[in-house]
Amino acid sequence: MYIYRRKIPIIKIVKNRFYNSNNRALVGENGHVRQVTNYYPFGGVFSTTAYNRGDDLQPYKYNGKELDRTHGLDWYDYGARQHDPFIPGFTSLDPLCEKYYHISPYAYCANNPVQFIDPDGKQPVKRRYADGTIRITWNIVVLNKALKPNASEKSVRRHERQKEAKKAYLLDQFNHYLNGDGNGVKNSKGETVISEFNIMVIDVENPSDKREADKQSRTYAQEIKEGQPNCTGDAAVFMEGSPEGEAWGRTYAWRRIKISLLAPEGTEAHELYHTTGVGDNGYRQGGILNSPAEPIKPEEVDEMLKLIPDAKI
Ligand SMILES: [Zn+2]
Repeated sequence: MYIYRRKIPIIKIVKNRFYNSNNRALVGENGHVRQVTNYYPFGGVFSTTAYNRGDDLQPYKYNGKELDRTHGLDWYDYGARQHDPFIPGFTSLDPLCEKYYHISPYAYCANNPVQFIDPDGKQPVKRRYADGTIRITWNIVVLNKALKPNASEKSVRRHERQKEAKKAYLLDQFNHYLNGDGNGVKNSKGETVISEFNIMVIDVENPSDKREADKQSRTYAQEIKEGQPNCTGDAAVFMEGSPEGEAWGRTYAWRRIKISLLAPEGTEAHELYHTTGVGDNGYRQGGILNSPAEPIKPEEVDEMLKLIPDAKI
């Protein structure tokens, strides 16, 4: 169970940074905190402080929805349905339950209120930020050839500069092909999807060793799982491939990626895209699956979002 507490800045109704987020605090014109409400993950109120001797100052709470407390009912009004945070779940059937046989028709947000919100009681959607964007994180590890232990100070400095340059090059590539040069890309609904790339360049003895690449992938997978709700998955690990007689790049299980030294620009981004699970079939006219790759197309963004583990319903 996750319980989130956030610092409360002084504004009138304090919400967190997500769209349809919870009303956390009520602050008077003069800046005095009048009421602070904390929630269980499904919306139950676990503590509330009304400074006016127990008055509940306003009824809009979890997800900004109205909490109907009449005679201890304590249901949230989501429009299409009422949500009882203590069951927890909706009190009536999901009108779209035929689409989700594997989920109870009474389930709230596919039983995952950390990942999803339900704007109107009809169906869960991935949490959005207040500006309407969908944000995802990619974790990337790049294997780099380590220096010999007795390397001179000068070579060490050059080595570190080369690592920085490699990282900058990749960041630039990923931003260009998968992130609209930093502005985000659109899905076919016209929503903006913004990517963040965590790139780590690490030194290993043999950057072409696939066992090393798998080991790194598993190591980082452990570290990454917590605290990154919109992560594309475990770390993608880039290794060097042989320059001749092979494809420019290839993505394997454990998100191991092999890139040929002769690969043209865009190959890294194309392979990174494959780590979400999208194959090469389809969308070959332009886009990230084009060969050579071009900036990602809206249909490809849709495919990617469908396959990101946390986006699955
Ligand atoms: Zn491919």
